[in-house]
Amino acid sequence: MPVVCDRCGFEGEKEQFEHIGNVMCCGPLVFKRCPLCGEPVICDLQEMRGEMEDAAREVSMGIEAAIQESDAARARELLDQLYCINKSLNLDPIRAYVRASSKRINRISGAQPS
Ligand SMILES: [Zn+2]
Repeated sequence: MPVVCDRCGFEGEKEQFEHIGNVMCCGPLVFKRCPLCGEPVICDLQEMRGEMEDAAREVSMGIEAAIQESDAARARELLDQLYCINKSLNLDPIRAYVRASSKRINRISGAQPS
């Protein structure tokens, strides 16, 4: 998958672009430096997207388990992770799930003040 610099139009393999850093804490978006003009280019590493989706699935299963056990702290921690993962995946069903789960967690934490 070629990377294209949106400033000068240079197109190359992502290996040709110097890695600068991640755009977000745990997302597949990374900053790369264009070898031609030196401009930072944001790359969406699509090959990581499948891994992100797997991670999201695993985390949401953990959330379900934590809610079942009324472990609000654990559920909230996992929900934060899922929220962060979804900043990169940007999927509506996950966004809706995060919102709905947040309410459920508030309910169980209300029932069991820690
Ligand atoms: Zn460039």
